[in-house]
Amino acid sequence: MGLCVYCNKDRSLTREHILPSFVYKYQERNKKGKISGWREKPQKIVDGEAVIKDVCAECNNVVLGALDGHAKQVLEKAGVFTSNFKENKLYLEHNYNELSRWLLKVAYNSSRASGKHQGVFEKFKGFILGESSVPSQFIISAGLLKPLKLTNDQYHECGKDLDADEHRYVNPFYPRISWAPQTPTGFSVKQIVIGALVFHVVILNDSISRDERKRLIKQYFKRCKGMRLMRKNERKAKVSQIPLTFIDSMQHHMLRPEVEPHLAELLTKTSR
Ligand SMILES: [Zn+2]
Repeated sequence: MGLCVYCNKDRSLTREHILPSFVYKYQERNKKGKISGWREKPQKIVDGEAVIKDVCAECNNVVLGALDGHAKQVLEKAGVFTSNFKENKLYLEHNYNELSRWLLKVAYNSSRASGKHQGVFEKFKGFILGESSVPSQFIISAGLLKPLKLTNDQYHECGKDLDADEHRYVNPFYPRISWAPQTPTGFSVKQIVIGALVFHVVILNDSISRDERKRLIKQYFKRCKGMRLMRKNERKAKVSQIPLTFIDSMQHHMLRPEVEPHLAELLTKTSR
């Protein structure tokens, strides 16, 4: 028993995946190696699926489980689950309310697991559970990583493992969650990558005016070129390629000194 972080009731707690198990299951079926990911708490790359254990069965299976179900349907239909994604666009047929609640849930899960920036997502709990209306302190955006062209040497060394095509292009399925680096004050960005698809959960500070909010959002889209705003009243969103590859999207991980050696190891593993 323990207090559920969502409903605050003393109940028996269940294991919850940070990213839902359907993502890991796809990866497991298709990856030759083990599932790896950077974890903040043990300060090293740990093999296996990231889980937390502070959500009760009712919240987990009923409300949060339904959000996972929606996300699975949206991502499958969009064609995200491929070992080498080469399209320059895709369509997300989604329900904004459910998709944004799902992304906030994943971001909140990841923050609790890492023990960092937990407070940022506390205020969204009511919305994630479907108990309050859409808050104005966040936006969701999406983009697609562009395929990376391997050099001749890389192609011969790891092209087969990365499912490179005949023109040496790769865009491997590799889920990860991180904070975007060096964002200007006023907002923070959580990046959720599922294969080639990148979501940004952009959290704006509480105490800003309408004009300031507008200015910050403009600034964000100027910095994150190609990312597309997900809108409340749309059913189908066209997501296009951004000028970053899967390696670029990991760069800021590498900029953090404590991550660098582990990431180097991971990349070697991936490319073998
Ligand atoms: Zn609960």
